[in-house]
Amino acid sequence: MTNSVRQVLHRVFGYSGFLGQQEAVIEHTVAGGDSLVLMPTGGGKSLCYQIPAIVRDGVGIVVSPLIALMRDQVEGLRQTGVRAACLNSTLSYREVLDVEAAVAAGRLDLLYVAPERLLGERTLELLSRTRLALFAIDEAHCVSQWGHDFRPEYLQLSALSELFPDVPRIALTATADDPTRREIIDRLSLRDAPLFVSGFDRPNIRYQVVPKNNARAQLRRFLKGHHGHAGIVYCLSRRKVDETAAWLREEGVGALPYHAGLDGATRQRHQDRFVRTDGVVIVATIAFGMGIDKPDVRFVAHLDLPKSIEAYYQETGRAGRDGDPADAWMVYGLQEVVTLRSMVENSEAGEARKRLEVRKLDAMLGYCELATCRRRTLLAYFGETRSRDCGNCDNCLSPVAVWDATEASQKAMSCVHRTGQRFGAAYLTDVLRGRDTERVRRFGHDRLPTFGVGADLDAWQWRSVLRQLVARGLLSVEIEKYGSIRLTDASWPVLRGEAEVHMRKDGRPATAKRKRKPRAAPPPPDPATWDEALWEALRSRRTEIAQAQSVPPYVIFHDATLREMVERRPRTREGFSGLTGVGETKLRRYADDFLAVITAHQSGDNANPIETEPSRLIEDFG
Ligand code: ADP
Ligand code: ZN
Repeated sequence: MTNSVRQVLHRVFGYSGFLGQQEAVIEHTVAGGDSLVLMPTGGGKSLCYQIPAIVRDGVGIVVSPLIALMRDQVEGLRQTGVRAACLNSTLSYREVLDVEAAVAAGRLDLLYVAPERLLGERTLELLSRTRLALFAIDEAHCVSQWGHDFRPEYLQLSALSELFPDVPRIALTATADDPTRREIIDRLSLRDAPLFVSGFDRPNIRYQVVPKNNARAQLRRFLKGHHGHAGIVYCLSRRKVDETAAWLREEGVGALPYHAGLDGATRQRHQDRFVRTDGVVIVATIAFGMGIDKPDVRFVAHLDLPKSIEAYYQETGRAGRDGDPADAWMVYGLQEVVTLRSMVENSEAGEARKRLEVRKLDAMLGYCELATCRRRTLLAYFGETRSRDCGNCDNCLSPVAVWDATEASQKAMSCVHRTGQRFGAAYLTDVLRGRDTERVRRFGHDRLPTFGVGADLDAWQWRSVLRQLVARGLLSVEIEKYGSIRLTDASWPVLRGEAEVHMRKDGRPATAKRKRKPRAAPPPPDPATWDEALWEALRSRRTEIAQAQSVPPYVIFHDATLREMVERRPRTREGFSGLTGVGETKLRRYADDFLAVITAHQSGDNANPIETEPSRLIEDFG
C-alpha cells in the first residue's frame, strides 16, 4: 500500500517526497481511519485527502466552504489528470446532471461539495447509492462557534458520522487554538480519531513591524522591494481600502480594492484578476483571503492592526504558500492602538466576550512592541516553544536596543496628570519638550514643573514612549474626548517608583529607509546559474497556456517548477519529468512547449552565464 501511495505522489503530482505529516495522515486515511489534521497554511493539507481518494475505491467527497476555492482546486487536479468535479450553486442544471451522472457511474476520484448542498436530499440520495472513498472536511474550524469563521451550515456536518458510519472522515484546518480544536472533535464526532499536528512555523515568511511615521511613504518604500509581485494590503475600513487602492494606482501599482461594500460581480472580478494574472496587489478589508489558494503571494502588508494574533497569523499566512521567501509587513502607531481599543471597548458583545477580545488585543499589541524574535513569540502563542531566534524577522535581522524608560514614563505620566488628563500626544510632547507655543501659554502650562523636563528626547522619541505606554495599558486614550490621554490604575506604581518600564528603542524613519534593500523576484538560489531572460520567457509561455485555457497560471506550473527549469535546463522529456511538480499528465501536455522555450533560449543566447563562466563552475565543484 505504501508503495502505491508513493507511486501516486510521484506519477500524478510529480513530487519526490512527502512533507511533514502527510505520509502518516495518508496511510491512516487509506486504511479507513478518521482523523483531525492541523497543518499550517502551505503545509500541504490537500494531498492528505487527495491521495487517499485516488487510492481508495469510490469517490472522495470534499466539503469546502468557498466556491472560488473549489473551482481552482478542481482545475488544479484536472491538470494533473485526476478526475475531479464540484457541485455548487454556480453550476447550471445541465452541468449538475453531468456531474451527478459521473458520480453515479463511478467516473470521479474527487467531488467538491458546498456544505449546504451536501446534506440536501438530492445529494444524500445520490451519495447513498454511490461508493464513497472518504469525506474530507476542509477549513474544519468553520464548525466552531468559538472560532472566527463560524458557518452555520457546517453544523449539519455532524450528521455525517451517523449517515455514513463506514466512510472515513478527515477534518483539516490551519487554525490552532485549543477550544476550536475541541469543538471540531465534538461536532464532527472525531473523539477516537488521532490528531495529526504539524509545527506551525512558516520559516519563509519574514515578519516586520515598523513604527508609523508616514504610512504611505513607508508602504511605497516597502513595495519597491516587491515590484511585479502579487500581494495583499489589509486596511480596517472600506474607505481606507478604496483610498489606498486609488493612491497605489496613481503610484503605478496594479492595485484593486476588495471589501464587502463592493457589489458581488466587482468583488469576483477583482479576485479573479488577483488569482489569474501575475503581479496584482489587492487592497482589502479582512473580508478578503479565506479560500484564496494562490501560492505565489509574495507579501501581506497591514496598514491597520489585526484584532488578534490568530487573525494576524492567518492573514500573514496567505503569503508564501509555495515556500519561497515572502514578507509580512505592518505599520503601527498610536492611532491604530486607539482605534482598535475603542472598537473592542464599544463592541456590542457580552462582558465575557469583551474581556476575551481585550486579552487578544493586548497580546497583539505586545507582539507589535517586541524587541525580541517575533517568530518565537508567535509560535509560543500557539504552544510551540523554540530555543533559538529565527534570524528572519526584523528584530533578529537588526537587533533592537531596549532602554530603561522608567524616568521618561514618569515624566510623561506626570505631564498627563498635571495638564488635567485632557490632551493628546502632540500637545503633551510640546509641554514635555518645553515648546513655547501660543496654546501652551494660553493654558498656563509653561509654568508647570513638568514643562521642559523632557527636552532630552525629541518629538519622535516621545511619540514612541507614549505609544508604548498606551499599548501596555500604562496610559489610556479616550476616543470620545479627541484622543485625550489619561492615567490608568497601572500608571500609579510607575509614578510611585515601584515599577520599572523597559521599552524598545524604535529605529528612526530615516535609518529605516536606508536599511530596506529591494529584493529581486524570485530569489535565485545561485546567481551563477540564474538567467532572468529565460525565467521571463518561461513565465510568459505559462501565461499564454493559462490564458488559452482560462485557468490561473499556477495550475499549469508553480514558480518552483519554472525555477527548476531555469536552473537545470532539461533538454529531453526524461529530464523534464524529473522536475518537481511534473507528473505524467503535465509531462504529456506541456513538456514540448516548455522544452521548446529552453532550447530556443540556449541557442539564441550567447551571454549564458554557464557557457561564459566555466571557471566559476569548476570552482564550485572543484
Ligand atoms: P494547504 O492547503 O495546507 O495550505 P496545499 O495543499 O495547498 O497547502 O499545499 C501547499 C503547497 O505545497 C502547494 O503548492 C502544493 O503543491 C505543495 N505541496 C504539497 N505537498 C507537496 C509535496 N509532498 N512535495 C512538494 N510540494 C508539495
Ligand atoms: Zn526572529
